[in-house]
Amino acid sequence: MSAEKSKNILERLGNGEVIIGDGSYVNTLEKRGYVLAGCYTPEASVENPHAVEELAIEYARAGADITQTFTFYSRDVGTPKDVKLTCLEINKASCEIAKKVSNKWGTIVAGGIIQTAAFKQTRDKNDVQAELREGLEVLIQNDIDLIIVEYFRNIVEMEWAIELALSYGKPVAATMCIGPKGDASGVSPAECAVRMAKAGAPIIGINCLFDPFIALETISKMKAGLDGAGLSPYLMCQPLGYRTPDGGSYGWIYLPEFPHAMEPRQVTRYECARFAREAYNLGVRIIGGCCGIESYHIRAMAEELAPERNCLPTASRKSDLDLSTLKEKEDKGRPEFKGKGCKDYWMNLVPCTGRPLSAPMFRQADPETVNPSVLN
Ligand SMILES: [Zn+2]
Repeated sequence: MSAEKSKNILERLGNGEVIIGDGSYVNTLEKRGYVLAGCYTPEASVENPHAVEELAIEYARAGADITQTFTFYSRDVGTPKDVKLTCLEINKASCEIAKKVSNKWGTIVAGGIIQTAAFKQTRDKNDVQAELREGLEVLIQNDIDLIIVEYFRNIVEMEWAIELALSYGKPVAATMCIGPKGDASGVSPAECAVRMAKAGAPIIGINCLFDPFIALETISKMKAGLDGAGLSPYLMCQPLGYRTPDGGSYGWIYLPEFPHAMEPRQVTRYECARFAREAYNLGVRIIGGCCGIESYHIRAMAEELAPERNCLPTASRKSDLDLSTLKEKEDKGRPEFKGKGCKDYWMNLVPCTGRPLSAPMFRQADPETVNPSVLN
């Protein structure tokens, strides 16, 4: 626990700290029976607050420095038909849960706003900012510590969102849900990064849609653009927890397994450890996850960066961090544990799917991240 730490993320980054974000909420709570896939709305904060709180605690125990409010749409649309709650009622409850966890665990409370319906409908700056302002209202009333402007697909809308978010005088992190080919209009990751930085966001990066290693490729393109422009905002990366080399322009959304059969593509804890190390080496200083990244993945990231962070997660008590439990079995000569007491074994393992008929990739009509020729 880090109760004495500052809740100002910029102050901590300025002191050289590496910040660990939290992971998946809506996707994880769907699997646990509290969210309806397809709607993906956060009414669980009112209907089953204990489930949301427990998940937030899991991330804090896993080493997360941030607790995101389980808030989503800024308008009263999209909830399942039998839900009569208003968006405000849901989001209020979500803020209260995040605050409660933050008070106990010392985490930074972050509230997010995402791409708007208004941008698709009118492409009008005033309309977009009005919709975003509605979403921000409850977050500001609850005095959150960090605004995350996330899951934006178009740099123009992102610039408008950053401008608005900065007007509240709170730290702002801006992350787009784009792959290496850039935003929905084909603006490159490098240009998106430069424009986000020039719009004034002190923290920029990407979240969701693509797997950790594709996300790193996108971030490296962003960094090259920033370096070229002489800009150096803090970098943030919160990727998807599923491997998506064959995803479309909307990443995992354009896969046949989305949303009900993604499990075989789940990243392992060791892939997350490798991701965290490579992200750190690239200069990323806020490292976390989005859909599909579970608390044990966050723990693996925090453990990998323990030397840089000078601390271990509470949940490391149960992670067999030095693999001594497995090593002991190996030392007793048990062949099924041969090599498994060594981190290299796990870092180099390529997991099987267990499905003799499964293919490594989907024959995607418009693959975003692999050369189409490999799917022919
Ligand atoms: Zn996500």
